[in-house]
Amino acid sequence: MEKHHKFSIWYVLLGFWIVLLFQHMLVTAMAIKTIPYSEFLRLLKEDKVVEVAIGADQIQGRLKDSDNPAGRGTLFRTVRVDPEISKILAEHNVTFKGELESTFVRDLMSWIVPVFMFVGIWYFAMRRIQNQQPGFMTLGKNKARIYEENELGVTFEDVAGVDEAKQELKEVVDFLKKPEKYSAIGGRIPKGILLVGPPGTGKTLLAKAVAGESKVPFFSMSGSEFVEMFVGMGAARVRDLFNQAKQKAPCIIFIDELDALGKARGIGPVAGHDEREQTLNQLLVEMDGFDPSAGVILMAATNRPEILDPALLRPGRFDRQVLVDRPDKLGREAIVKVHLRNVKTAPDVDPAEIAAMTSGMSGADLANLVNEAALLAVRNGKSEVTMAEIREAVERVIAGLEKKNRLINPEEKKIVAYHEIGHAIVAMSLPGTDPVQKITIVPRGVAALGYTMQVPTEDRFLMKRSELLNKIATLLGGRAAEKLVFEDISTGAHNDLARATDIARSMVVQYGMSEKIGQVYFAGRQNNSFLGIDEEGAKPYSPATAEMIDKEIRQIISNQFQRAVEILSSQRQALEKAAAILLEKETIEGKELAELLNDQSE
Ligand code: ADP
Ligand code: MG
Ligand code: ZN
Repeated sequence: MEKHHKFSIWYVLLGFWIVLLFQHMLVTAMAIKTIPYSEFLRLLKEDKVVEVAIGADQIQGRLKDSDNPAGRGTLFRTVRVDPEISKILAEHNVTFKGELESTFVRDLMSWIVPVFMFVGIWYFAMRRIQNQQPGFMTLGKNKARIYEENELGVTFEDVAGVDEAKQELKEVVDFLKKPEKYSAIGGRIPKGILLVGPPGTGKTLLAKAVAGESKVPFFSMSGSEFVEMFVGMGAARVRDLFNQAKQKAPCIIFIDELDALGKARGIGPVAGHDEREQTLNQLLVEMDGFDPSAGVILMAATNRPEILDPALLRPGRFDRQVLVDRPDKLGREAIVKVHLRNVKTAPDVDPAEIAAMTSGMSGADLANLVNEAALLAVRNGKSEVTMAEIREAVERVIAGLEKKNRLINPEEKKIVAYHEIGHAIVAMSLPGTDPVQKITIVPRGVAALGYTMQVPTEDRFLMKRSELLNKIATLLGGRAAEKLVFEDISTGAHNDLARATDIARSMVVQYGMSEKIGQVYFAGRQNNSFLGIDEEGAKPYSPATAEMIDKEIRQIISNQFQRAVEILSSQRQALEKAAAILLEKETIEGKELAELLNDQSE
């Protein structure tokens, strides 16, 4: 920028010089002869001068044309000389002439002074804008906040209830502290760590804790900060950020809200948002170009991993993903303890009790809750927080969250508990289904109210008919439990039904697993999975067959539903016990449930 405006001054000066030159040439072209004053006097005496215009310094005039009396005559110009001296000079026969005073400097000054004034005003105005909002003129410069380790002061102690995530990140801290240990063996630390989880669960806090524990500088920037103001700046920022970080290695680069920047390319309302794509491309380039053994670790956080560009998740980029989930009851108790450290509390305040009242709340909600209780205590003129303030604060926070539709009421919670246990018990009772690891009813996201975590034991290429049927039964287990226990069914199963129906349809029309239909492939043209619809009007079978297919699908579904109901009624006791535990603790391990089932079968 600085360079550029100096350049422009030279261009301006050159321009003026050309103008002056041009003017001079114009005068010459008009053939005005400049003659000495003595010559002028001589011509005057010889009656050769037709007319003159006398100025302060100059006399301009026209001479008689001797060849062509009617013609215009030669134009001339002469500089005035003091008449007295001229007389003497003429007597002594000296050729004399006036000096044509150069107006060049004056002309130039009359141009240059205003130009310099304008440039000056512009320069100072820019300086002021710059001071007011840094980053306006320092466009490519980075806005990343760099925290030195002692400024942050966050440690793993401050993060609670997310033990699994903490465990994974401890390895990263270890690497940053003793990189030699890893490079000696040749082990490679992940380049990028992506913290995934709902808002307010402590992702940003965890990243800071990693920096605080490993005592290295921490560059923090939000994804949305890359994409703003001017086209092309985002990419420059990314480049700058990585350059700065490399100089400060070992260090951590943290990109918060990565989704703002890393949205899959080519989707979104404005097709081809070039600026964001460029920035994202630059990020990918930088990630490929740096060597983690240099001690720069890239961390990022997002609560919408599903919209990230797949290129970001490829090996060598964000190749490790750490789930930071909403805390269960024990987790909430630990988080409450962390935040109560800074507050004076009465002896009746019991973290376990608070945890029991705050199902579904995130770490941020709990921090807010403790703060709210402290404010209430001050308002009530108390010297410490008592359980009464906590209760009131819980009500306030819950009221706020209910507006956001994030909490479920106790009756819904009960339905969800039985539903999830239903899935799990059916899965455990049938051979060939994926083992159940953990069941939880901590609400997550909008759609799924609870879930049963099943881990596939091995990658499968082929599935047997019996396995597919078992899978359908498992999917229907949730609704079967609701029907059995409440003699009513809820809307919570629609996703299960969709998946079960999908499998049943595939069995009939693709895999030839229905006896009535036979070993025929009916799926027709490949369905357009991108738009999620089958192409209409391309069915390669008759309406009668279509009816048969529908009947078969329904038959498979209802058989498996019946099977799920039978399994659950034979395990009714375990179902009740497990649901009670789940309602109490919000999570139940697969092992614990297996023990309940064994007890009953003995
Ligand atoms: P996220 O980045 O996941 O949206 P933050 O890390 O910004 O959430 O959390 C906001 C605040 O909530 C933190 O500063 C902290 O006070 C509190 N908090 C969130 N999760 C936890 C946790 N697991 N343990 C302790 N405090 C937490
Ligand atoms: Mg955050
Ligand atoms: Zn379900």
